[in-house]
Amino acid sequence: MSGPVQVATPESLLRPEVLALSAYAVPDASGLVKLDAMENPYSLPSALAAELGALLGAAAVNRYPEADARTLKAAIRRALDVPAGCDILLGNGSDEIIQLLAMAVAKPGAVLASVEPTFVMFRMIAAFTGLRHASCTLRADFTLDVDAVLRMLEAERPALMFLATPNNPTGNTFARADIERIAAATPGLLVVDEAYYAFGDDSHLELAARLPNVLVMRTFSKLGMAGLRLGFLVGSPAWLGQLDKLRLPYNVNMLTQLAATRLLDSYPELAAQAATIRGDRSTLAEALRAIPGAEVFPSDANFVLFRIPKAAALFDALVARGVLIKNVSRAHPLLADCLRVTVGTPEENRRFLAALHDAVAVLG
Ligand SMILES: *Cc1c(COP(=O)(O)O)cnc(C)c1O
Repeated sequence: MSGPVQVATPESLLRPEVLALSAYAVPDASGLVKLDAMENPYSLPSALAAELGALLGAAAVNRYPEADARTLKAAIRRALDVPAGCDILLGNGSDEIIQLLAMAVAKPGAVLASVEPTFVMFRMIAAFTGLRHASCTLRADFTLDVDAVLRMLEAERPALMFLATPNNPTGNTFARADIERIAAATPGLLVVDEAYYAFGDDSHLELAARLPNVLVMRTFSKLGMAGLRLGFLVGSPAWLGQLDKLRLPYNVNMLTQLAATRLLDSYPELAAQAATIRGDRSTLAEALRAIPGAEVFPSDANFVLFRIPKAAALFDALVARGVLIKNVSRAHPLLADCLRVTVGTPEENRRFLAALHDAVAVLG
C-alpha cells in the first residue's frame, strides 16, 4: 500500500541543527567606508597589479591546479618561519580548515571546544558537522580563566579545542603560559588560530613543532589577500597526513596559488603594511579613548573593540553617516554595548572618528 509521495520540505528533511542556525550575515557595504571585516585597506601597488594581471592571464586555466600546491607551500616556507619538521595544509580560507578539522573528529558524541566570546565560526562549524560545542567564558577583561578551561577540558573531553590569539572580536593576545597549560591538559587537538599574528608579537609555530597535539592555523585574509581565500595549517606530518585525506582535491584554485605565490615574494612589503596598520591602530585607539564614556580594549589585531553607551544606536547612526563597523553588542553578555572597528587607512579612520563624534553629540 502506498499513499501519495510526501514531497520533502527543508523542515522535514534537514538536520535540526541546520534549521536552527542563522546564516553568517554579511551586510551590504556599497557606498560605505568599510571597517567591519578586518580587511587590509590598501589595494595593490599598480606595478604589482599589472604583473599579477600578466601572470594570471598566462595561467593554463583549462588544467587543474598543482594538486599538492608545492610551489605555493615553498613560498610560504620562504616567507614565514615554518619549523622544518612541520607540514603545511592549505585551505580555501582558514574557515575551510576549521571545517576539515571538525569533519575529521566528528565521531558520535564528539565535542568541539572554544572560549566565549570568540570567532563565531567555531560554534557554527560544530553545528554544521554534528559536533557538540562546549565553551568556557573568558574573564571580564577577556583574559583566559585557565582553571575554568581545565575544568571544562576534564568534564567535556573535547576532541578539538580552538583558541584564537589575538582573539576576535576582543583583540587581546592570550598569555603564552596559559596556552601551554591548556595544550598540556587537553585530551585532544589544540588549534591555535593566529589569524592576526601579523599585528601582534606572538607566534606558536614553535609550540606546534614541540607538542604533537598542537596545530597552528593562519590566514592571509587579514594581510591584504581576503579576496584570494587562502589559509593554512602547520603541524606534525602524522596529523596533517591524515587530515589531508579529507581535503577536497584542488581546494585552492590555480589563480589563488599563482597570485599568493607572487605576493608572498613581496612578504616584507605586506609585513611593512601590517606595521603601518599597527601604528594607525594606536592613533585610532587613543582618539577613541578621548570620547567621554568610551572604554577601549587593548588590541594586538587590526581592529579595536570599544564599549560605549547606546552602542546599537551609535552603530545605526554611523551607517547613516556612511561608515560601516561591526556591532558585536548582542554576540555575548561580556560584549554588551561593544562595537568593533577595523583599522582602515588614516583617511578612513578620520572619517569614522568624525562620524562617531557627530553621532555621539546628536544622541547625547
Ligand atoms: C577572519 C578569521 C578567520 C577566517 O579567515 P579566512 O581565512 O578568511 O577564512 C579565522 N579565524 C579568525 C579568528 C578570524 O578572525
